Amino acid sequence: MTTDKQQTLGASFELSGIGLHSGVVTHVRVLPAEAGEGRYFVRVDLPDSPQIPARVKAVVSTTLSTELGEGSARVRTVEHLLCALAGSGVDNARIEIDGPEVPLLDGSALEWVKAISQVGVVPFGSSPDSSFILQEPVWVYDGDAFVAALPAPLTRFSYGIDFDLAAIGNQWHSWCPGQESFAQAIAPARTFGLAHQIEQLQTAGLIKGGSLENALVCGSQGWINPPLRFSNEPARHKLLDLVGDLSLLGDFPVAHILAYKASHNLHIQLAQQLAQKMNVKG
Ligand SMILES: [Zn+2]
Repeated sequence: MTTDKQQTLGASFELSGIGLHSGVVTHVRVLPAEAGEGRYFVRVDLPDSPQIPARVKAVVSTTLSTELGEGSARVRTVEHLLCALAGSGVDNARIEIDGPEVPLLDGSALEWVKAISQVGVVPFGSSPDSSFILQEPVWVYDGDAFVAALPAPLTRFSYGIDFDLAAIGNQWHSWCPGQESFAQAIAPARTFGLAHQIEQLQTAGLIKGGSLENALVCGSQGWINPPLRFSNEPARHKLLDLVGDLSLLGDFPVAHILAYKASHNLHIQLAQQLAQKMNVKG
């Protein structure tokens, strides 16, 4: 883990798989990009191969996953791949995809992180440290759910969740990018779902690509497909989603980002507020 700005991939790599919500199989090719280009998607299956920037301004939906759009082009469930890139220090990357949804793979960011580490992460040379240091708290909330950014000496993410199901219950995780391994602490944490909600999500036309191979499922009697990779794997996965959503800022602010029972919607609301303070052009 490095905090140097302006890095890209040493070479390109490809991964394919089924999208959680669409059930569509897509092929993703991630390529090096120039300094300052940032992370962006290219829908190579559409006429003229439209580009979609992985930026806050491009968010078009936050229903169960984060969806980006530019013009009529869309790409959804971007959060795990973007988290893997940002968590691995890849600031600039061209992400070519031939369909509407990023593959879920095993439900975590692990396969992306492994592929990134195989091709390596390379710097463009020295660049000024231009990290934004948050000076005052920023927060958004909805009922008892919230996401807050607080002034702090280092960038840190913390996440709490609280479920009625005893197997999940109340759990927390905290991660400091400068001090702890992303690949070991966060990337392996998988998507999770609640057994009693699966039928209604399927009826709503969602999670067509979900299975016991790519998501942990929890029922009233406990986990249906154990073992877990961490005792607090759900909290770590929510933290993974938060980091992926905040990567739309381009750079993480120097701040403690603290979330409780939040959603993609609240994550993105906070990112929008931070984008204004950071003077990010979207
Ligand atoms: Zn997720």
